[in-house]
This record gives sequence, C-alpha cells and structure tokens, in this order.
Amino acid sequence: MALTGIQILKMLPKKNCGECGIPTCLAFAMKVAAGQAEIETCPYVSDEAKATIGEASAPPIRTIKLGSGDAEFISGGETCLFRHEKRFEHPTGIALLVRSDEDEAEIDGKLKRFNDLEYERVGVMMRTNLIAVKDAGDGGAFTALVNKVLEAAPKAAIILMSEDVENMKAAAEACGERTPLLYGATADNAEAMAALAKEVGAPVGARGRNIDDLVDVASTLLDGGIKDMMIDTGARTMRAAFEDNVVARRAAVKEKYKPLGFPTITFPCEMTDDPMMEVMIASVLMAKYAGIVVLSDIQGDLLFPLLLEQLNIFTDPQRPMVVQEDIYPINGPDENSPVLITCNFSLTYFIVSGEIEGSKVPSWLLIKDTEGLSVLTAWAAGKFGADLIAMFVNKSGIADKVKHRELIIPGYLATIKGELEEELPDWTITIGPREAGHLPAFLKEWKPAA
Ligand code: SF4
Repeated sequence: MALTGIQILKMLPKKNCGECGIPTCLAFAMKVAAGQAEIETCPYVSDEAKATIGEASAPPIRTIKLGSGDAEFISGGETCLFRHEKRFEHPTGIALLVRSDEDEAEIDGKLKRFNDLEYERVGVMMRTNLIAVKDAGDGGAFTALVNKVLEAAPKAAIILMSEDVENMKAAAEACGERTPLLYGATADNAEAMAALAKEVGAPVGARGRNIDDLVDVASTLLDGGIKDMMIDTGARTMRAAFEDNVVARRAAVKEKYKPLGFPTITFPCEMTDDPMMEVMIASVLMAKYAGIVVLSDIQGDLLFPLLLEQLNIFTDPQRPMVVQEDIYPINGPDENSPVLITCNFSLTYFIVSGEIEGSKVPSWLLIKDTEGLSVLTAWAAGKFGADLIAMFVNKSGIADKVKHRELIIPGYLATIKGELEEELPDWTITIGPREAGHLPAFLKEWKPAA
C-alpha cells in the first residue's frame, strides 16, 4: 500500500537541513510519495524507516538492470497504465536473436547489423540494445557463441536463453560484469535456476505455459529469494501476448500483485515467419507494456519505424524536449554569415539546423529559450514575443560575431516584424520562409541588407 507524503514525513528526522537536495523534509516526503525522489538521498533516515518507506514507495513494476557501461539496459520501474497519467520510465528493449545452431555467416551478418544500425533523431541515438543468445542444446557451442557476441557487440546487453541449468551456468559465468538475463526458469527448473541466479547475481526470465502457470513459476522464484526477474506468459500469438501484457500490468499497478510486478519479455520472433509482420507485432506489444521484444533479425527499413515508435512512446509527455538557449554556428560561419533565430523545441531545432547544414551556407542560428514550445505556440503563449527576442539578441553576443545587423525570423512570426524593428532599432528584420524545407534556397540567395 503506497504511503502518503504525511505518513512518510512522520518517519523522517525533520531536520530541514536540505542535504537531500530539497529544502524541507515536508517537500522531500511529498516527492518520495510521488515517486520523484529516493528515500536513500536523506542521510539521516533510520534503516527501519528506509526499509518501510522503500518497500511502500517501490514502483509496482520492479526495475531490472542488465549489463553494464555501454551495454547497460534498464527495464521496468513503471508506475502507471497510461503515459498521460505520468510517464513511462524505460523504453522497450529491442533484442536481436542469435542461435547456437545457426550458420556462422548468418550470425556474423546479424552482429554486423546490430553494430551498424543506429540512427540519430532530435539529438537522441536510437539503436537495438540487446542480443538474445539461444542454446540449441550443445553447451560448448552455446558458451562459444556467448563469448563471440560479448566480443563482437560491446554495446549489447545479453539475454541467455536456455532451460539447461548447466549450460546456463557456463554461459552466465562467461558474461562476467555484463550481467545477463537468465531466461529459462520454468515449472521444471525454477528452483535450480533461482539458485544459479543468486550465485551469479543475475536477474531471471520466468516463463509459464500460460499466465496462471507463470504466476506459479514467479511465486516459486520469489519464495527462493529472487527479487529481479522478467516475465513471459508463454503467449505466442499477438493477441494473446497483448492481452497478457495488459492483464499483468493492470494486476501489478492496480492490485500490487507481486508475481506479475515485473517487466515482460515477449517473442514476436516466434509468432510469425514474415519479417514485416514480426515488426508489426513488436510495435503492437511495444505500445502495450512489453519490456523487451525479441526479433529474429533486424533490417534498417523495418527497424527504423520501430525505433521511432519507441522514441514517441517513451518521451516524457510532461517535459518538452529542448535544446539549450545559445548561438549555434553551422557550416563554419564568419562575420558576414546570415543570422537566423528560432525556438528551443528540439524538433524545431533539429529540423532547422538540419536544413541549414544541408544548404552548406555558413550561418549563425540563435536558439531562444521558449520552454520547449514550438514557434507559433511560444508566440501565442507570450514566450517568443518581440520584446523577449530583442532582449535575447542583445545579450546573446551575436553583435560581436557579425559585421551586418540583419536578423532572419521564422516566416510564421511575420506579424511581429514591425514590433521587433522598434525593439531592435539597429537591426534589419527579414522574414524567413515559413517551412524549414525552403531554408536552403532562401539562404543561397541571401545577401546582407544594404
Ligand atoms: S536530508 Fe533528510 S533531514 Fe535533511 S531536509 Fe532532507 S529529508 Fe529532511
């Protein structure tokens, strides 16, 4: 049962010292209750209170960590059913499957694609982040493939797939610091797999034949002292996996039902032979709570839309994506280069800067802090008006970088031209294009106003 801020406050030392980074104990208690602060950040709280509060304020879906360094992957920590209620905490992991009985050239091709396929979008690097290594029965071949993957794919968090505890042990030990997920605890081997997981300090993947069977397996693991796991209801059709994901999330978030309070691992790779259908299934499961989707292969044309969906779903809706207010030099500008201004909404920045870069015209791009609002919205909200733009231009230092005094404003701000000329009497205000796509032609024609 979650504790209220007041209940948490009663267990705090009430020094109001601010060492937790928050000025008062009351404000800190409210943040802990809202899941926005960790109780551990107060150095004075007793161990007993820490345990009570930590347990009560833990997210209903446990946070699971795999790998380390560049190969770290975190899943879970979720607290809500719908993104608009708060936010989703950790993006669905996209895993590439390799099997120990697979052709060597096939595996090499997959690993190459895993390493090569990455994309930058609004300043975020998007890529596949896990490799699932499946044991075909030969323990030696399984461990050899794990070693190959560890070396060839340094950015991959590892999922080990085997129900053979001996094979799993050798492969898990090969992973060392790159803590893998031991996927393969079933009703038949749950106790042995729990013992191995404790020995190597790795989370367990629990698999049931259906959701009820999964609850039994997860309960056995919990009784065996396993705290970190990912769960698989065994569903191998899109509809069943979708329904199970929803049932598990609701049971965990609404009912605080422990055996289902873990991120899910799903297998679109086992639901179809059609690569396009596989990615479509992955996209559906990603939208409804999959912690990991395992794909049989990755190709750029199918992976990119999946990564975009991942970016869209897991962006915090309460925090606009912004870039810092500053002067951005593009293509090596000098004192005769054009000066453009726009807002600090990330998408706007990356589209505008991308078009300027593509034009090859050296330019200065001024980014004004509009709290992440786009041009027209910021103007309507009073955050991108002539007075604020003028204040920013004057303090930005751009006047020291160029000889001319001409400022190019977004076409959508044409109505403030006169007002801006009054605020910046030394500057000529030029109305730029409305669409960023027209910037290259505009800049190629541009000459400083006489
Ligand atoms: S560090 Fe602890 S005692 Fe100090 S203000 Fe924060 S919660 Fe209160």
